[in-house]
Amino acid sequence: MPAKMSDFATAFASLKAAKDAAEAMAKATDAAARQQHQTEILSQIADAYNAVLSAREERSALLDRIRELESLAEMRERYKLVSLGAVNVVAYAPKHPEPGEPSHYLCATCLHAGKVHFLQQTTSGEYHDKYTCKACGELSVDKGVRRQRSALPPGRGSRGPHGWMAS
Ligand SMILES: [Zn+2]
Repeated sequence: MPAKMSDFATAFASLKAAKDAAEAMAKATDAAARQQHQTEILSQIADAYNAVLSAREERSALLDRIRELESLAEMRERYKLVSLGAVNVVAYAPKHPEPGEPSHYLCATCLHAGKVHFLQQTTSGEYHDKYTCKACGELSVDKGVRRQRSALPPGRGSRGPHGWMAS
């Protein structure tokens, strides 16, 4: 971006060269020299015009970026970092949700990189929840549920005194 800031310097240099050429043309006496100065003036004005156009595009891009950063700053004000599940998976959630606003999370990695991406929950499991961020992909969140029960097939302990526990 700093390289682009030289567009103004280019424009000023070209206008200065055009002015110098115009002064030289005014003093020139023969037609060939005058023609040469005129060509130089037109060329320098064209360069200055292109540099100004480029500076205008740059200005517009910078204004867009400022608006984007302002809206990101507002987002960061409105959200707080929260932990999902039992392990340290973090996301942003609204500090004070609006009435009727569904609960939702923003991807922490993306928000830090300046992008607002919602986490979409794709799985609500017994041990893990899964979320996806369109940039980061799938996030698996350990809910911290102990897996001891999973060692037994479901229902086995309920057979009464003649079940597996009695034998
Ligand atoms: Zn993300």
